[in-house]
Amino acid sequence: MTVHTPSYYNRFRCLAGECPHTCCRGWEVPIDRETAQYYKTLEGTMGEQVRGVLAVDGEGETAFLLRGDACPFLTGEKLCELQIRLGERGIGEICRSHPRFFYDYGSLRETGLCGSCPEVARLILEGDMVLEEGQDDRAGEEDPSLLEVLLAARETAMDILETPEATLGQRLQAMLLFANEVQVLLDNGQSADVPRLCGIYEEEFPLLDPAALPDRREALEGCLEALEGLEILEPQWKELLKRGRVFLRSGEMAENPCIDWGRRAEIYFLYRHWLRGVWDGDVLSWAEFGVLGVAVSALLGPLLEEGFPEVFRLFCLETEHNQENLNALQDKLWREIRLAEMLALADL
Ligand code: SF4
Repeated sequence: MTVHTPSYYNRFRCLAGECPHTCCRGWEVPIDRETAQYYKTLEGTMGEQVRGVLAVDGEGETAFLLRGDACPFLTGEKLCELQIRLGERGIGEICRSHPRFFYDYGSLRETGLCGSCPEVARLILEGDMVLEEGQDDRAGEEDPSLLEVLLAARETAMDILETPEATLGQRLQAMLLFANEVQVLLDNGQSADVPRLCGIYEEEFPLLDPAALPDRREALEGCLEALEGLEILEPQWKELLKRGRVFLRSGEMAENPCIDWGRRAEIYFLYRHWLRGVWDGDVLSWAEFGVLGVAVSALLGPLLEEGFPEVFRLFCLETEHNQENLNALQDKLWREIRLAEMLALADL
């Protein structure tokens, strides 16, 4: 298989006890079958302890019962007791791999790191990503029919974000216009025309008249409401969204649209989500999803001491770590939120 890996991937090191937001809180830790089997054979008090907190949910999935909102094996020093006492073998597949992810598209595997981890968020935002390509021994499956065109289109979308001398807002808007035109071609069964479209956007950078766009504050408020309507994983996020709406209404917002952070965050979102379009034919919602993440991080960043990077991390956590939230947001972007509103949102 061909394997894509972002250049920062191998620089990741878990902060463990130094982590300001351990990932061992706020969700039930799912246990894969092999690890559950291993726990059944564990002897002594450790075995009893582990089996005492294993639970099987209605869908037959095994997970640890939480203690408060945390994994029962999280120590006071924010370390993993299972790893300390049993080594790597003692922790489940999800804990071994987090915050890494991979998605397979036929003969292509794309690997990456989740922006919900503070150390990953730092790596994503601190430098430009280069996509590295390698090969592994797996055979892979037949390529989805849209893979080649959507890979080329994603490259153009990312190139648009790198356009020198354009503002962050102009780059995001041009990328959205491009994604919309790709979407029209896909919807009309004209995917063969996507390479021609890429060529046009590589030659010409479209500029919008901001005066022609809907009211930006209203668009932002609508998006904050949409985020508040999702399942909330961290209470701090709900509070932040509320404060954002209050400040928006007061007209006192001082956004922080750092061009490098905004561009790198959008590239992360495009890398992680754009190719989902090979399965459901939707790329516009994923381009918009990224713009939403960037706009919300720029808007709410000044309300937190840690600024844009922390809002970006929270946005990733709340949306990408909950499949129902991700589906609901994609649905909203597809059916309810107009492109013009997203273009207004992108006007940073
Ligand atoms: S959030 Fe990231 S740095 Fe923190 S404990 Fe989890 S993997 Fe490690």
